[in-house]
Amino acid sequence: MAWAFAGTMTFHFNRHSGEADGPRLGTLHTNRGEVQTPAFMPVATRGLMRGPWHSQLRPMGVDMMLANAFHLFVRPGVETVQKLGGVHGMMGWDGPVLTDSGGFQAFSLSSKTKVTEQGFKMQNPVQGGWIDWTPAFAFEVQAGLAPDIAMILDVCPAKPLDETICKNAIATTLRWAKEQRDLHDARGGVDSGQAQFGIVQGGVFGDLRESCAKGLVELDFDGYAVGGVSVGEGFHAMMAGVENSTPFLPVDKIRYLMGVGTPLDLVESVARGIDIFDCVWPMRAGRFATAITNQGKLHLLNAQFTNDTSPIEPGCPCDACISGIPRGALRAGFKSKELLPSMMVAQHNLFFIENLMRRIREAIRDGSFETLRAEIVSAYPMPS
Ligand SMILES: [Zn+2]
Repeated sequence: MAWAFAGTMTFHFNRHSGEADGPRLGTLHTNRGEVQTPAFMPVATRGLMRGPWHSQLRPMGVDMMLANAFHLFVRPGVETVQKLGGVHGMMGWDGPVLTDSGGFQAFSLSSKTKVTEQGFKMQNPVQGGWIDWTPAFAFEVQAGLAPDIAMILDVCPAKPLDETICKNAIATTLRWAKEQRDLHDARGGVDSGQAQFGIVQGGVFGDLRESCAKGLVELDFDGYAVGGVSVGEGFHAMMAGVENSTPFLPVDKIRYLMGVGTPLDLVESVARGIDIFDCVWPMRAGRFATAITNQGKLHLLNAQFTNDTSPIEPGCPCDACISGIPRGALRAGFKSKELLPSMMVAQHNLFFIENLMRRIREAIRDGSFETLRAEIVSAYPMPS
């Protein structure tokens, strides 16, 4: 069975170039293959992609995928996922998978969540009732789902601009981090077949980001994420959050910026020392008729595209663009709620982002990263 874990965990990050806080090139080695970084992980929240077939992902350059532990726990449940071959079998994906811990869902579903010292009480969105989503339980669920990388359960502050809330959030995050780190060690660390990443919180406050990063580094995680960004704080505050986190993380461990994925955010975060990303935005934008192109965003519902015979992006080699279906037909299809236009534009957008990551890697390698960065900033201007 191709999905079964076999042998000793080979998880490690090989940094080819770059330092703590500039563009970096690397390879993440896992039991299920390598990930060339900087890299973007497509999000299959419940194990399934919304748009592209999973077989389209490898040719696009996808090396690693993301799924969500809380949503998979709710449906179909850990036992069923195991019967389907673990998270990899369920996803039809034999490459590495990272699962998020549910910390972000506690934030995004905050009207349905209670925070206690011991964990979150979260409303079950499928069966009703309450789930005690504690650090130990999030660990156990992820051990059962068997991804290659499990995220710790953290507290994403509901108000990233409120210093007291952020301070309390990092105190709890660090306490829970220690608890989950101990569970990971007791299970054999990376030799269990699963790596574990810590998550830096601290909102927009530099000193809190620094102290959270340092506290996590003392616990010696297998990789680190910068979390609590892209939650409404704005572009510049988000970049400050990255700048206030990456210099304090070990230079030879992989860094992951959670929930970030516009072309501008990707190049600007790579420029600040981030290695891997995930985001629902590219495919979600596509499902709502917004195409990501080299000329910026195109809103295909605009009347200007009614009689447009061009593909989504002329010259793009993705399946949607070479299909011959013109923008005008996609526009008409979106208006009549056909399925195919949303799948096609989602697929094109993911292709664009994966291709952008490939271009970023090549540009770092050949010394032209600043040229590519300027090109992206010109098509996707920074907010003032
Ligand atoms: Zn395309």
